[in-house]
Amino acid sequence: MKTANKKVTATRLVKDALEKAKHFEDYHIFTFLNEEGALKKAKEIDARIARGEKVGRLAGVPYALKDNFLSPEGETTASAHILEGFTSPVTATAVEKLEAEGAIMIGRTNLDAFAHGSSTENSYYGPTLNSHDRARVAGGSSGGSAVAVALDIVEFATGTDTGGSIRQPASFNGIYGFKPTYGTISRYGVVAMASSLDCIGFFTRTPEDMDLLMSIASGQDPKDMTTLPDYYNEAVASAKLDDSRLAPARPFAFGNSRPKGRALRGSGAHSAPVVADGLEPSNSCTRIGIVKEFDNDSVDTEIREALKEKCELLKSKGHEVVGLEMPTLKYALAAYYIIQPAEVASNLSRHDGIRYGFRSENSTDLDGLYEHTRDEGFMSENKRRIMTGNFVLSSGFYDAYFLKAAKARTLIVQEYEKAFSKCDFILSPVSPNPAFKLGEKVNDPVAMYLEDLMSVSLNLAGVPGLAIPAGKTKAGLPVGLQLVGPRRSDKRLIEFAKELA
Ligand code: GLN
Repeated sequence: MKTANKKVTATRLVKDALEKAKHFEDYHIFTFLNEEGALKKAKEIDARIARGEKVGRLAGVPYALKDNFLSPEGETTASAHILEGFTSPVTATAVEKLEAEGAIMIGRTNLDAFAHGSSTENSYYGPTLNSHDRARVAGGSSGGSAVAVALDIVEFATGTDTGGSIRQPASFNGIYGFKPTYGTISRYGVVAMASSLDCIGFFTRTPEDMDLLMSIASGQDPKDMTTLPDYYNEAVASAKLDDSRLAPARPFAFGNSRPKGRALRGSGAHSAPVVADGLEPSNSCTRIGIVKEFDNDSVDTEIREALKEKCELLKSKGHEVVGLEMPTLKYALAAYYIIQPAEVASNLSRHDGIRYGFRSENSTDLDGLYEHTRDEGFMSENKRRIMTGNFVLSSGFYDAYFLKAAKARTLIVQEYEKAFSKCDFILSPVSPNPAFKLGEKVNDPVAMYLEDLMSVSLNLAGVPGLAIPAGKTKAGLPVGLQLVGPRRSDKRLIEFAKELA
């Protein structure tokens, strides 16, 4: 990552990034360009460097902020009409941590409104174009962030991943995208989508940059009770930690009893991977699991070939590749599209025209104000999720849908725990296909949901996943694969990706 110094000033870095952002304006990457604010911060950093003062690890590094992170710089709209005009009085913890190290936000990036989608076409501001083919989607929901990094406008960008929104656009644009273990980075100050699934993460062009950002952003935050103690920075020394520190803060069990057996232990020292019960640590050789259920016609042949090639590379480096059966994963998509809308319906109930952003003028009474504001302010995909969510939670349907999905979620958690007793990491496709054409799926919600077939189970289980670039199709479209690890194996996962880069 290029940081500012006496020769290459922060002002230069920021001006270059802003210029590039303007050059690619028709890609709809940004919802706001922070020209004044970014240049002011750059000047301050340059002055500190000139005075010989110590500056942070991201001094003068221009970055892009997904427009669902709160900060007083520019409106936070989540690319939704209903939040138009909303300027936040608070700053997200992740933003505070990045900026304390000297990073400079040059713009807010486009997303599917409220992060509902897999293409960035559900944005109020128009779709972001793919970095490799302007006729194709950027992926989503963090499409703007992925393209900003892929087109080299910024060094890194933030993202949120509730069901694949970092990993899928990263793979559609040929870069790295990381969804950490649930609770690794504070969600304070990020527009909530589905709170038991939401994770904060990053887009970078190298695994080394990802490692640096993770070491800065991770850690417990009193403002987000779901955050974990900072295991990421302690990972190297974690062999010394006792089991009570490594065990999950709370067992992952949804809708039924606790998962049976011992909780899976977290990240171990890099040289001695922590594994679940019954397996000797495979010191120098890493054991990689390949999910048999994903090796079928529902996945594009070129993606399956890319996976096979990576397996050959792994074997040539002395690692072991093993087949895994994970039959429960077939329930992941259905469970996700019940749990996630249920949480969305609750989180989005606060948007009623009273407190935040847009307010409809087309009403004469209070009920009408709520109704018109929500009708005019939400996109149709937002409404679909609110309606589905309220339906699956309603009395009479709760047991049949929400409770059943919660039980399926526990089985998925257990399936991953079982899988990680047989291997260190799993390697799988991120999505069934490379970037698709703009407009191809936008009017077919089920086709769009199927994009998430292989990404959502990680969010349900709370495990980390790193999208890594894995070449291109014959048509020149990037292919991505995801490396998946047990909870709190984030550091090891990124170290392993460095080896594969
Ligand atoms: N594509 C998924 C959805 O629409 C995931 C979105 C996300 O991770 N924010 O729900």
